Amino acid sequence: MIRELLLPVLLFPLTVGFQADGSSTGSAVSGNDGKPTEASASRASQLPEESLLIERGEGQLPLRIPAAEELEFRVLVDLGIGDVNVGTVTLTSGIEPYRAGLPIPGAQVGGEQQSGWLRSNARGGHLGYELDHELKTTYQPVDFPRIFHRDTQTGTENRKREIKIGERDGKTISTFQDDGHCEGCERPEHVVSSTLPWGKDHHCKKCKRGEHRVWKEIQTRDVPPNTVDMLGAIYLSRTLLVEGLEETTVPMLDKTRLWNVTLRPGGTKALNTKAGRFECREILLETTLPEGEDPGDRGFSGIFGIRGEIHIWAEALTGVPVMIEGEVPVGGLFTLDVQVELTEHRGTPAAFQAQE
Ligand SMILES: [Zn+2]
Ligand SMILES: [Zn+2]
Repeated sequence: MIRELLLPVLLFPLTVGFQADGSSTGSAVSGNDGKPTEASASRASQLPEESLLIERGEGQLPLRIPAAEELEFRVLVDLGIGDVNVGTVTLTSGIEPYRAGLPIPGAQVGGEQQSGWLRSNARGGHLGYELDHELKTTYQPVDFPRIFHRDTQTGTENRKREIKIGERDGKTISTFQDDGHCEGCERPEHVVSSTLPWGKDHHCKKCKRGEHRVWKEIQTRDVPPNTVDMLGAIYLSRTLLVEGLEETTVPMLDKTRLWNVTLRPGGTKALNTKAGRFECREILLETTLPEGEDPGDRGFSGIFGIRGEIHIWAEALTGVPVMIEGEVPVGGLFTLDVQVELTEHRGTPAAFQAQE
């Protein structure tokens, strides 16, 4: 019974959490052709064989997107009777040539511009409740949207959300749009037959059918130029480690709300996972509400639904995440410890090797 509750509560937030950071600074996307600019061979092996570096502005931590990396995790929840596996999370990334939807007058054609993407897929199911939650963020070499984040949940419940961040009229803005159950229209497929012989067919009032959902109004707001999405924030913690930089704080957008996420390097320890034993460095993610930002009617809740801190244990040389830990509140009554543990990896940097 508890597990039935947990799946939606845990997996959903965790997926969300995985998206980390896309920055919205006005900087251009530039490829590195797979060749790290630094001469050091040891450093080269810390980086993905091919990657795309997204600059986020002067003095800002850049975002590096591996060209073809796939990380698989299992989601473990401590229920007091041992850890229970409630699902899987897969993190993938890629690079592709950028193609605009429509030719822009004066824009270069056939250029070598690239866009990069980060994707998180969480899957789970228990006692008839099925969840498939995908987060995908594309970082594009255009003013708007520079960051395009899509959040799609299918299964027992269905919903879609889109966030776009970029520059319009010299300002950095974001737009948010989500879907909801249609409140009444003429479409015959939204009309349900009455189950009572004397009842009339009517527009469905409320259901979980994906095909009864429609896009709602677009909500627009101003955001700081270096704002990232949640997936971008996660991958930034990786850049932080590889670049050996100090603690940094980035603005992160979740729907229409802005958060400050502080990425703080912590201690080291060796961790045993399904994928092997790795020497790890902790990166602590702390989420706070920026001054003047409306906390909304739901009060404070950090990324991934995790309240308080998120601990990312990343392999010390490459920054590849090996374990993610945090506490998730359940129904406002108690919290559960959640661990997201690496099980398999492909396309990771050469220096990412399990120890004997
Ligand atoms: Zn309708
Ligand atoms: Zn309906």
